[in-house]
Amino acid sequence: MHETGNLCEACDKSKIMYYREYCPRCEEPRIKTMDYYNLLECLYYIEATGHPGFKAKFWEMLIDLTSFTNESTVELWNDIDGSNPLLKELFDKMGIKDTTMTFEISW
Ligand SMILES: [Zn+2]
Repeated sequence: MHETGNLCEACDKSKIMYYREYCPRCEEPRIKTMDYYNLLECLYYIEATGHPGFKAKFWEMLIDLTSFTNESTVELWNDIDGSNPLLKELFDKMGIKDTTMTFEISW
């Protein structure tokens, strides 16, 4: 999970290395299976596409909300009434229409 210094051919900014080298601005997070999103890829994507600091804020909120370890999954709820704007933004940005979604956490 760090910037590699290699530049993306599309946007000319640094790619990051997280299992594979990729550009968080130009490549949307992949759904790993039909049911799971990789949470960190989602956070990098949201941060890189217009919400600086999102990853750190979301991470702090998540630590308050639940306990998790590397290679675990968490089920998160879309916050329809907007009382948790971070959760709402995650679901909105990822285009998730379901009320809940399981996210894989691995680093
Ligand atoms: Zn790019």
